[in-house]
Amino acid sequence: MRYDVAIIGAGVTGSLIARELSRYNLNVCLLEKEADVAMGTSKANSGIVHAGYDAEPGSLKAKLNVQGNRMMAQIAEELSVPFKRIGSLVLAFDDHDMAHVKALHQKGLANGVPAMEVIGKEQVKRMEPNLSQDVVGALYAPTGGIVCPYELTLGAAENAVANGVVLKLGCTVEDICMDKDKFRLMTSTGEIKCKYVINAAGVYADTIAGMIGDESFSIHPRKGEYLLLDKSQGDIVRTVVFQPPTKMGKGILVTPTVDGNLLVGPTAQNIDDKENVATTAAGLNQVVQGAGKSVPLFNVREVITSFAGLRATPSTDDFVIGPSTVSDKFINAAGIESPGLSAAPAIGDYAAGILKKSGLVLEQKENFTPIRKPVYRFREMKDEQRNEMIKRDPKYGKIICRCESVTEGEIVDCIHRPVGARNLDAVKRRTRAGMGRCQGGFCAPKIVEILSRELDIPMEEVTKMGGKSGILVGKTK
Ligand SMILES: Cc1cc2nc3c(=O)[nH]c(=O)nc-3n(C[C@H](O)[C@H](O)[C@H](O)COP(=O)(O)OP(=O)(O)OC[C@H]3O[C@@H](n4cnc5c(N)ncnc54)[C@H](O)[C@@H]3O)c2cc1C
Repeated sequence: MRYDVAIIGAGVTGSLIARELSRYNLNVCLLEKEADVAMGTSKANSGIVHAGYDAEPGSLKAKLNVQGNRMMAQIAEELSVPFKRIGSLVLAFDDHDMAHVKALHQKGLANGVPAMEVIGKEQVKRMEPNLSQDVVGALYAPTGGIVCPYELTLGAAENAVANGVVLKLGCTVEDICMDKDKFRLMTSTGEIKCKYVINAAGVYADTIAGMIGDESFSIHPRKGEYLLLDKSQGDIVRTVVFQPPTKMGKGILVTPTVDGNLLVGPTAQNIDDKENVATTAAGLNQVVQGAGKSVPLFNVREVITSFAGLRATPSTDDFVIGPSTVSDKFINAAGIESPGLSAAPAIGDYAAGILKKSGLVLEQKENFTPIRKPVYRFREMKDEQRNEMIKRDPKYGKIICRCESVTEGEIVDCIHRPVGARNLDAVKRRTRAGMGRCQGGFCAPKIVEILSRELDIPMEEVTKMGGKSGILVGKTK
């Protein structure tokens, strides 16, 4: 197949670039080595839409973070993705921290972050009564927010596909040959020809750039471990609560999630293995200690799961977004560590601008639709809406996941969407079935049955997360 643009990596970066390019009359493909979109860093992070006071003024991180934050509300609405602008606090525990908080405020002003305030102990207490007595003040940024990172990725990918982008899952780019005016991508599923390449391969972006001889940057994984707590803890704080950042990252935060759970973490540990997303006792202890410093009341007995993600830390101090040193038709969107999720909508725009400068003709598509087919979430509906849905389709009257009130109708819908769920974890990310207190103990067997029925495959072929992650080995009688 011949494409105008091939995008490598369907994380939030690649998916939002694909969605942006789907506005134009172009043949675009989005290539992902895993069995679903958002299987890399984009599924395991804090989900914070940063206000933008943290990055160095003048850097791409600063510019794209502030722009992305501004764009997020509209994009989330268009893509039917949960987003809440709940504001953020950076706490100070002593005079040294207070000086840091004031410096962050100055950086924020330089970056164009609106409406920030340095506030004192009493105001912090009024906003967040459950914080430590040791807090002496904070930087308050009302434009900070929270979003579901994998739903944002999925929403963007689905909208891109609905607008004509070809998504190829389970397609690993293994090598790239560069001829004068085109690229040949050797993939695990065959050869792909294209005029332009976007390298959005996360922690592997240096390997992909290396395939055409671009060794201008390297990517080093930095692990962050988290604990997710039950919804009983979800209102212990109302804003995103940070501690002063360090050279290694933004420190341990305590935040509600868009779904009402409490998230605490992450750690920041440089590692060598780009596949190592295991949590450790030492890391999780550090999370408990760190979160307890900000919110002593947080109850570790309410933890329902733990996870870890890898920051794609670049050898440069900034995002690496631009034409490669080898060809101006090979665009890197690399080193997208934090605040990459916040910046992603702006990265989409920015990458399209770079392609245009490199000679790609961007002609608006007449029938582009920015609106993703809405996602109906039964747990969020009023009774009248629920009755209406059940009248239209009785499957919305059958609860499959009791912890999260997810219906059979939602599960069937997520299997038949433009980027349909093909395994148990894919259903979980799309509907929250299995994300509650019992972590799928009750609903997993029922979801296996539904996947088998809807995909018309034997139950033994249904996997947890694609590849060899089988669940059932055979029948006993
Ligand atoms: C602990 C932690 C906390 C964070 N918190 C925040 C936050 O609160 N707010 C924020 O703004 N940012 C945050 N970030 C950063 C944010 O998560 C990332 O910037 C963002 O997810 C990067 O997305 P991406 O698409 O570039 O990478 P990824 O999501 O990793 O996507 C890259 C994709 O490329 C695919 N791929 C790789 N190699 C190949 C190949 N050869 N062929 C085909 N496909 C390939 C991978 O499978 C993967 O799906 C955090 C990051 C971490 C690790």
